[in-house]
Amino acid sequence: MFGSDCTLFFDGRVSLIGVVMVGLSYACKQYELAGYISTPMLLFTAFFSIYMFDFFWFEDHFITTFDVAYEKFGWMLTWGDTVWMPFFCNLTGYFLVEDYRYEQPKWQIALIVIIWVSGYIFARIANAQKDAFKRDPSKKTFFYGLIKQDYISADEGKKVLSSGLWSLSRHPNYFGELANSLAMCLPGGITHSIFSFGYTIFIWALLITRFERDDRKCNNKYKQAWKEYSRRTPYKIVPYLY
Ligand code: NDP
Repeated sequence: MFGSDCTLFFDGRVSLIGVVMVGLSYACKQYELAGYISTPMLLFTAFFSIYMFDFFWFEDHFITTFDVAYEKFGWMLTWGDTVWMPFFCNLTGYFLVEDYRYEQPKWQIALIVIIWVSGYIFARIANAQKDAFKRDPSKKTFFYGLIKQDYISADEGKKVLSSGLWSLSRHPNYFGELANSLAMCLPGGITHSIFSFGYTIFIWALLITRFERDDRKCNNKYKQAWKEYSRRTPYKIVPYLY
């Protein structure tokens, strides 16, 4: 619309800025009530803020994603980006506002940070590897020469990336995202409502079902090459497990 991509605009500017603004409002409200911001609230808002900055820093990588390239801009994206993401996915912060005395032992905080950072880095490298491959499939390496770039040829010059993180599972970026979406809600603990894990439940349900849709789509597009890739890389999302 008017020369801009609505999906990219809504996914980033509306949805992610919305999530961070609502999350920061919860943190401000907690500060007003308690006179300080609790560690779980700090972690939750920090995770989403870094996630948002990452999106804007690497925004061009999202042009080749399923959301932007193939998802139609309809009800799911408009309602999801304006209502679902900013409010439902922020329920961890909502429950923490009045529960400002809730704190977690240091080992739990350390574990949450490790899971979040590992998931974030894994997804970031996987997305960057696919993006680099799409821009120039002829390059032999990626990430300062540490990751080999290789592909399986399909009809009409199409190519399936089959090396590096994309040889561990057929959607390594989803694996990173499953881990960091879990860590995003863990600061809320398990003592609050199940809805405190709203963001985790949403992302797990979305990505596990999306995997099947995307796999079917790639199977139709890349045909024999995708079959060969699936044979070489049998794990769907979680390397050596699923
Ligand atoms: P992807 O970025 O994984 O894009 C999938 C597309 O990439 C496929 O349709 C195919 O497109 C291409 N592709 C996949 N595998 C290969 C391969 N081996 N070789 C060549 N091309 C391949 O999907 P998403 O848009 O779902 O995810 C993008 C990122 O956003 C992920 O990190 C995801 O976790 C995250 N995400 C976050 C959400 C949130 O709300 N926080 C929601 C959804 C996603 P083509 O046919 O063009 O080659």
